[in-house]
Amino acid sequence: MNIAVIGTGYVGLCSGVGLAAKGHKVTCIGRDKEKIGMINRGIPPIYEEGLEGMMRTLLASGHLSATDDMNSVSRSEATFICVGTPSGGDGRIDLVQLESAARQLGSVLRDMSGYHVFVVKSTVVPGTTERVAAILEEASGKKAGRDFGVCMNPEFLREGKALPDFLSPDRIVIGELDRKSGDALVEIYSPFNAPLIRTNLRTAEMIKYASNSLLATKISFSNELGNICKKLGIDVYEVMKGVGMDSRISPRFLEAGIGFGGSCFPKDVSALKSLAEDIGYDPQVLASVLDTNRRQKLEIVRQLEDRLGTLKGKRVALLGLAFKGDTDDIREAPSLDIIKALLEKDAHVRAYDPQAMGNVKNIFPGIEYCKDARHALEGSDACLLLTEWEEFKGLTDSDFRLMRGSIIIEGRRILDKNKVKHFEGVCW
Ligand code: NAD
Repeated sequence: MNIAVIGTGYVGLCSGVGLAAKGHKVTCIGRDKEKIGMINRGIPPIYEEGLEGMMRTLLASGHLSATDDMNSVSRSEATFICVGTPSGGDGRIDLVQLESAARQLGSVLRDMSGYHVFVVKSTVVPGTTERVAAILEEASGKKAGRDFGVCMNPEFLREGKALPDFLSPDRIVIGELDRKSGDALVEIYSPFNAPLIRTNLRTAEMIKYASNSLLATKISFSNELGNICKKLGIDVYEVMKGVGMDSRISPRFLEAGIGFGGSCFPKDVSALKSLAEDIGYDPQVLASVLDTNRRQKLEIVRQLEDRLGTLKGKRVALLGLAFKGDTDDIREAPSLDIIKALLEKDAHVRAYDPQAMGNVKNIFPGIEYCKDARHALEGSDACLLLTEWEEFKGLTDSDFRLMRGSIIIEGRRILDKNKVKHFEGVCW
């Protein structure tokens, strides 16, 4: 099928490449001419393992192309809308990008013939896809459910594993305005070997929020347990191993650490909390998940201060800035709160990350950026390990001996006790 994908960020680009890899002919539509040029030359504007190779193959076979021309939607039978839905300042979802894309699409739809299905893939609070359908109707003069289809198809991919996750999802959720819209999306997903669940639009929207909120809850719960366990001299990882063996619970997302970040969990839990408050419900679990996380991000700085006393003038090596390994994404990354806190306490920050330094430089141009982990460690009083990059797993005492101090606190449980003698975990 000919498919258009609006938005060339993590979800848009990886969905476009994934759909093309399954045999569809995909046109990725973005606003930034430079990024479009890069995509057409086979250079991914984001870092995602395996993306470059797959893009090059699909560009060469003619299954993938990119443009900044919204009118090219008229040459496709389906459009996936993958624009950003960030958090507004007050925690509510900001729908500016989505509503503007819907208006643009509506005016293209006005002159289109034949049946076309619009699929909202962006994460949106319940009721939003109905609003998108209304905007499309208004801008096109056509009727949703009769002249064109509307679906809501939440995406569950993880950054860093975006392509394998997109290509082999645990489930595909198809929220449909009507049967015909859903049937079109079922056909698009026919090359995928995954269970399908068909729902109405609002249920599909809520499945995404419920999933992310539950995962965030597991993390905040594990972090709280970790903080308690550390005070009691109990290893929270052993505890959670025992807990996770219960088939009702699953071992995933029980790793205690420095708190969750990224473009999804913080904003999605906040958006659901705000929505609940707006409709007159006080969501105490969601509020507490966010509060626990806010505190957890700074727990590692609190412990550093405990060990070092004042941080004024202390050289602190930060290993890892991305919100997790295998990505250059720093949205809501704990590293940002940690850098801010360290600077407020007049520490000298020396940072290294294999992919994310460029993004952090835009926010904190004044800290010292190092060429590798050893460079960051050289002459430092303390080291905070913040991201689970593979290359940090190999660090040994001979690397840490480059420091002038001896305090090493890790937030990700990746250092090897056989290679590094003295270090502690943030909550173990
Ligand atoms: P992103 O910010 O990386 O990408 C969004 C892109 O949309 C940007 O490149 C922006 O320029 C583009 N865009 C906005 N309006 C446009 C328009 N009118 N025409 C063309 N392009 C336009 O965001 P993302 O991380 O890809 O997330 C997209 C959506 O998917 C969000 O709702 C997010 O919550 C959801 N989501 C993200 C992830 C993830 O891991 N990043 C996972 C699942 C779901």
